[in-house]
Amino acid sequence: MLPKFKPTKMNEIDSANITIEKTEKSNLKTTDFANLKFGETKSDHMFIAKFENGAWQNLEVKPFQNLSLSPSCIALHYGQSIFEGLKAFRNLDGKIAVFRPDKNAERLQRSATRMAMEPVPTEIFLEGLRTLLSVDSAWVPNGEDKSLYIRPFQFGDEPNIGVRASDSYTFIIFTSPAGKYYSKDVSVFVHDDYVRAVRGGAGMAKAAGNYGPTLLPAAQVREKGYDQILWTHIVDGTRYVQEIGTMNFFVQIDDVLITPSLDSSILEGITRESLIQLARDKGVIVEERMLSSEELFTAAREGRIQDAFGAGTAAVITHIASIGTDEEHIDLKPVSERTLAHELKKELTDIQRGIAPDRYNWMMTI
Ligand SMILES: *Cc1c(COP(=O)(O)O)cnc(C)c1O
Repeated sequence: MLPKFKPTKMNEIDSANITIEKTEKSNLKTTDFANLKFGETKSDHMFIAKFENGAWQNLEVKPFQNLSLSPSCIALHYGQSIFEGLKAFRNLDGKIAVFRPDKNAERLQRSATRMAMEPVPTEIFLEGLRTLLSVDSAWVPNGEDKSLYIRPFQFGDEPNIGVRASDSYTFIIFTSPAGKYYSKDVSVFVHDDYVRAVRGGAGMAKAAGNYGPTLLPAAQVREKGYDQILWTHIVDGTRYVQEIGTMNFFVQIDDVLITPSLDSSILEGITRESLIQLARDKGVIVEERMLSSEELFTAAREGRIQDAFGAGTAAVITHIASIGTDEEHIDLKPVSERTLAHELKKELTDIQRGIAPDRYNWMMTI
């Protein structure tokens, strides 16, 4: 188990400690909000904080701009670099609300602990985010399928190529307005030659180094006609399902919703946690447990899979249309005939958009 990170109480952190420098050249007017491509457009400002000489300092909101780094910066050589992803929504009444940012702050701290980095206190994460979003509030798009994607990240910036933990860190939050995240139904493939994460590795951390190695196998499965990898690992000689692509995996078999239990190889998704709660509250039996690929494929062959999907911030739910290996390809029940994932997705997005009551206190309004 990881040592538990105890956030320092930093009551002095409030927006008064954050200096604000506004841009003189806003890109707001020249941005085509009707044709947003995910990840391309950046809002006018960013929040930045530095950890130096043993303390977080220099909290600033300033124009989005390039960084100046030493070529010997530790993150570039040894990957002390972690990130988060979350969204802000404009509700029907015009208010801006962010989905569970406290959870992302906690997860960034867990990732930092795993990567031997100095954790960002929750107060700095939340107050930085709040200040950034008030300055860039006009960047939160209006419209049913639109949101503002938020990318917090942190890296070791000490200029030193010794293999050890950096003694200084940069923490940044920038945002990107996003249109409808086009989530087509996906076919997923079990790739025998590659694993994303193993027990004892760093799969539970949203660490930059976990994603680069997935790009080659992802390109290979696309050549076979599949969209995503169904990541698996072998424990005591049995192959178990972990995640799909960069989403948590859910399957409904014989009326039970199953998702792989968390261990050090699985990213603890906030969408995953929220969907488990929504499902349980509507009386669905949810099991968090190890699921072997044998069990999954047997249920698929026997037509007992009622629903199967990936869960993550970008699309909330992505339906899985088919699963395959080098030996077989199985089409699952048509997505239009499923019920659970459709219902869960509607319930979650209605809470995010302020259409349904926020009964779990998930939304932080700005
Ligand atoms: C970010 C991520 C998820 C989903 O997490 P959410 O908090 O739901 O967005 C799942 N798996 C991996 C590998 C991820 O990087």
